[in-house]
Amino acid sequence: MASSIGINPATGEKISEYNRITSREALDKIAASKKEYHHWKQKTFEERATLMYALADVFDKNKEEYAQLATREMGKVIGQSRKEIEKCALVCRYYAEHASTLLADETVKTEATKSYVTFQPIGVILAVMPWNFPFYQVIRFAIPALMGGNTGVLKHASNVQGCAFAIEDAFLKAGFPKGVFMNLNVEAKDVKILIENKNIVAITLTGSDATGRSVASIAGQNLKKTVMELGGSDAYIILDDVDLEEATDLATFGRLQNNGQTCIAAKRFIVHDAIYDAFLALFTKKMKAAKMGDPTNEDVYYGPMARQDLRDELHEQVLKTIEQGGRLVLGGVIPEGKGAYYPATILVDLEPGMEAFDNELFGPAASVMRAKDDAHAVEL
Ligand code: NAP
Repeated sequence: MASSIGINPATGEKISEYNRITSREALDKIAASKKEYHHWKQKTFEERATLMYALADVFDKNKEEYAQLATREMGKVIGQSRKEIEKCALVCRYYAEHASTLLADETVKTEATKSYVTFQPIGVILAVMPWNFPFYQVIRFAIPALMGGNTGVLKHASNVQGCAFAIEDAFLKAGFPKGVFMNLNVEAKDVKILIENKNIVAITLTGSDATGRSVASIAGQNLKKTVMELGGSDAYIILDDVDLEEATDLATFGRLQNNGQTCIAAKRFIVHDAIYDAFLALFTKKMKAAKMGDPTNEDVYYGPMARQDLRDELHEQVLKTIEQGGRLVLGGVIPEGKGAYYPATILVDLEPGMEAFDNELFGPAASVMRAKDDAHAVEL
């Protein structure tokens, strides 16, 4: 029987092993979720909200345990893991309070006597989720979808199956009926069979562009609805009237929070020529001073990347950029010792066609570019 293996990225040690289920077993669970859907969709918003408030309480009560689990499985600095669990509780309470208003019928004026738009549940939704916010990414999808009367099944990233099962367990602890939310520990290759199954009505993916292309095309062939949250290399434009202290604090936090693996954080820094040198000097000083280390230590600024292969891929991108003519001003060397650590890294002198100019660096590496003026910054 295949299994998913958990490796602590801070130590390189194996910490868990979970048996995979076969695609046949996953389809049986999806059928059970469909059966439960017929009951769940009949519940009132108040009934669903009561369970959501209970789920928020489960997150509050188990915050430390869940935070330690996330840090152990994917290396997030412990203080940030705690904040992630707090945010999950917040999301539960937000939708418990507001779903009935958000999903209320909307009257529209037409030639008919009465016309309105109504928001109805559609069935079992399959979520394919990444490891970077191993609790929040799942909760962000599940809570609004379930408040709307749908049920959900999860294919989570292989390296955070402990978190995936903990979330499933949290729903049960809160008193949700068993089929409303289920974890399916299948291999990525089995996702195709799940999408093709008649009981899945929609798919949501958060992950890389490559996975997005594959999932969207299978869903398209089966005429199923999708929501895709994919990769991107977000730009932070810094103009000449900036407060440099504040901008470099934000730039450092943006690039190093979650160990550089935040999809919506600043990755490319496009800096006005008039303040470029001052920005680069201060940003380099702050990135250098940020402490890398064991993510369970409270005083560490950033920890290891989530997996060694991802760290190695990032290093390849940095080396390729240098080969293409980019210049390294900080980091860029894999540290000795165990774990998937990568140091705060800064690349400059970047041009279109270079790896760090064209593509996302999903780790603690920043691309800094010089803009002649405001218009050029926007063009870049
Ligand atoms: P990934 O490889 O696409 O993995 C994401 C999920 O997809 C995992 O559950 C993975 O399972 C599964 N998967 C992988 N290949 C698949 C396939 N061929 N068919 C179906 N499922 C498949 O993504 P990642 O590299 O771990 O995550 C980093 C990327 O996600 C970055 O580009 C980042 O910007 C993006 N991201 C975007 C957002 C957003 O909200 N826009 C949020 C977070 C991350 P396995 O683990 O079993 O391979």
